Amino acid sequence: MVFMAEWEKLIPRPRSAFLRVKCLKCGNEQLVFSHAVNKVNCNVCGAELAEPSGGKAIIKGEVVAVFE
Ligand SMILES: [Zn+2]
Repeated sequence: MVFMAEWEKLIPRPRSAFLRVKCLKCGNEQLVFSHAVNKVNCNVCGAELAEPSGGKAIIKGEVVAVFE
């Protein structure tokens, strides 16, 4: 397992964050994990706010703030 630990150090890890995303349809703002693994829909109107891409999620709304 020592080998695995050494190996992991070499992999650049994208920093994850929480994004405050504004829905383009209704203007609702909600927190979305930057590396969401599930689709995120607006709590108010149901519009898609983020789509998983295997790494960093594709944000469909407007990012108004980032919390790292
Ligand atoms: Zn909405």
